[in-house]
Amino acid sequence: MDFYIYNTLTGEKAAFKPVSAGKAGIYACGPTVYNYAHIGNLRTYVFEDILVKSLQYFRYQVKHVMNVTDVGHLESDSDTGEDKMAKGSEREGKSVWEIARFYENAFFEDCRRLNIRRPDVVCRATEHIEDMISLIRALERKGYTYTANGNVYFSIDKFPDYSKLADMTLDELQAGSRIEVDPHKKNPLDFVLWFTNSKFKNQIMQWASPWGTGFPGWHIECSAMSMKYLGDSIDIHCGGIDHIPVHHTNEIAQSEAATGHQWVNYWLHGEFLVVDGSKMAKSGGGFLTLTRLIEKGFNALDFRFLCLQSRYRKQLRFSFETLSDAQTAYRKLKGRIQSMVEGIHEGQPVRPEKMIPYKNLFAGHIGDDLNTPNALTVLWDVLKDEALHPGEKQLLVEDFDRIFSLDLLTPPEKQIPISDEVRIKELVEERNRYREEKNWAEADRIRRLLFEMGIILSDANGGTTWEVRL
Ligand SMILES: [Zn+2]
Repeated sequence: MDFYIYNTLTGEKAAFKPVSAGKAGIYACGPTVYNYAHIGNLRTYVFEDILVKSLQYFRYQVKHVMNVTDVGHLESDSDTGEDKMAKGSEREGKSVWEIARFYENAFFEDCRRLNIRRPDVVCRATEHIEDMISLIRALERKGYTYTANGNVYFSIDKFPDYSKLADMTLDELQAGSRIEVDPHKKNPLDFVLWFTNSKFKNQIMQWASPWGTGFPGWHIECSAMSMKYLGDSIDIHCGGIDHIPVHHTNEIAQSEAATGHQWVNYWLHGEFLVVDGSKMAKSGGGFLTLTRLIEKGFNALDFRFLCLQSRYRKQLRFSFETLSDAQTAYRKLKGRIQSMVEGIHEGQPVRPEKMIPYKNLFAGHIGDDLNTPNALTVLWDVLKDEALHPGEKQLLVEDFDRIFSLDLLTPPEKQIPISDEVRIKELVEERNRYREEKNWAEADRIRRLLFEMGIILSDANGGTTWEVRL
């Protein structure tokens, strides 16, 4: 069975053909670690997780690479605004390095709670400066760069295919990007590869380079690191739809200018999560985090379930009502599975001929550009089918959950009695006192004790929240 995906580059859905038979290399743009991920960001990572697991389901050996941007990303994707890391550092009175590690950890904790598989390679921009410098040098040797006012720019006029991903004219690209006029750019769409002339005083993250001490522009890290880990012909590159006109367009320009051939075969983009008609953005201030949803009484997997109910290329209209509906449906599904499991009788023979049609239906939907809503319908149909016995249903649920990752066979969340809740709060407070005293051994002992009670703690913004481990 073929695996069909929609390719932004061609504007068509096509059967996936890998560069090397049986293998799939995927590069996904990762977080900029200056703040918590919001649920719009997390929706994109859920989509990419489904993509990775679907390729594995189709028996591809997947290598998934994701970067962590811990330097170089200005507020606007096109070289304007403040430095995001410096902004985080100023906001919280911590060093940029502390900010980067803190939010990187918070990001992977969110992923863990959402059952998102950790990529095979996670690469930090700050640990790949030499790779970026080599790539900029290659572009320089080929005549794609110029230096103005101390910064090294990529000249898009030298790369005729510049607008092929966004499928827009240069005028449209320019009109859409709200670019502040940088008088040093020859073309307003040119972008910085290396900054030596930082407009920010006390820029802390700086490195020596052939062009002087400075730091990389944002786009170069993805080209340099993807090619380092996946080679210069890559199967799939994905990210949020907002990356198409600037970030991914610039990535293509610099990568293909350097290699002289097509760089990525399939570009996949996840649509926005929208609240009250507008896209969720960190710069907007009041953005929603996963922890906020948990504090409001939801489980991380309620949110994952909500994401799977719509297709990744459609906008997801988020509200607490829709999340609440997803929670109800998810609990109903788990309840149904639980009673099905209780009805299993040992020794009933498994009949593959009864199961294979469902497996094919399921794979057909997943292989149709990750149609998770239809795949969920197949799951419901399996549960309703009286011709299947519970043991067969269990095997199918287990099989489908390799992609869904909804812990479908884990018993429903235990209800914590009020007395336990009081005890948990006391222990959390006790641990916080130890932390204030910097008595890490005692604080860790209590964390372990709570873990054994089935409680997971999250420390954020000077406070501690907890949730029940499923
Ligand atoms: Zn990127």
